[in-house]
Amino acid sequence: MIIVMHSQVSGEERDLLTALLCQVTGDQRSITATKMHEHEVIVLDDSQLDAQAYRAISQQRAVERVVQVHTPYKLVSRAFKAERSSIRVNRGESGQAVIIGGATATPVVMAGPCAVESREQLLTTARAVKAAGAQILRGGAFKPRTSPYQFQGLGVEGLRLLAEARQITGLPVITEVMEPDMVETVAEYADILQIGSRNMQNFPLLLAAGRNSFQRPVMLKRGLSATIDEWLLAAEYIMGAGNPDVILCERGVRSFDTSTRNLLDLSCVPLLRELTHLPVIVDPSHGTGRRELVPTMSRAGIAAGADGLILEVHPDPNKALCDGKQSITPEQLRSVVHETRLMNHVLMGHAFLANEPSTLQKVV
Ligand code: PEP
Ligand code: MN
Repeated sequence: MIIVMHSQVSGEERDLLTALLCQVTGDQRSITATKMHEHEVIVLDDSQLDAQAYRAISQQRAVERVVQVHTPYKLVSRAFKAERSSIRVNRGESGQAVIIGGATATPVVMAGPCAVESREQLLTTARAVKAAGAQILRGGAFKPRTSPYQFQGLGVEGLRLLAEARQITGLPVITEVMEPDMVETVAEYADILQIGSRNMQNFPLLLAAGRNSFQRPVMLKRGLSATIDEWLLAAEYIMGAGNPDVILCERGVRSFDTSTRNLLDLSCVPLLRELTHLPVIVDPSHGTGRRELVPTMSRAGIAAGADGLILEVHPDPNKALCDGKQSITPEQLRSVVHETRLMNHVLMGHAFLANEPSTLQKVV
């Protein structure tokens, strides 16, 4: 159950509600209010509540409405919020705001190197990303590498370079944070915090990202073999910690077949649109592990209804220190961005024709 309080709730009304909730649940610790835009909400496990308790809660003066949600995840569910969330990304420095998700936004393209390797590599790539028409720059400063002997990223120096690239291009920046203690540092430099697949269930990290004092949105990548429920519950940790700006990123899951690096689960895109109001981004780079498959799977991701793509791009992919095989060239990026726009037009035309069948009759 989600209890939504009035936006103008008084201290006394809140105390009365809390006292009632303690009484009916017998549990004081789980009753915490979270600010969600202009309302405070309390999420409760209502499996033990009877109809009388439910009525008493609904009648409290502090309560605007009570929403019953039957899935294990609550705040991220469409039962709680039917309209799709749109997330505004803006540093307010040079660039324009970028909108991710919602009913009307056009798909965004985030692109950049897997890892920030050097000033020259990043700035060359960032300029190419801008010239290709992508809206957000990606780049890992802290890299979660499978082997401790692989390049681990430039760390804080990489964050500084990303901030410089933003200054030059006006592109907002997304970068990964790997540990709770680094959330504030990364949030100081980044416009969006990325939580990687290997950390999808790092609960202290999810909570710290949810509480980041810069209020940066968080993009949560699907775990290496996470179910949709596990993924949405991980997103619930971030939202429950007070951050409504969560973006999901499908990046493929482990499969029996090693022909591609992962199995890009595009069926999750329309499914997530049923289950959650959060925006969904598709990552065909990690999803396939193969540069030659990225343009086609990018088109497929947009066709499936994704709110955008995240793509690895490198000026010289074969020399990349990380994930070169799946990195596309700036020229390929330019055509992926173009095709993304074309695909979006096709989808908008489809929606238009579906609403206006008479137009279709005129066309045929
Ligand atoms: C990345 O985006 O470079 C990355 C490490 O991705 P994932 O967490 O999906 O493996
Ligand atoms: Mn990578």
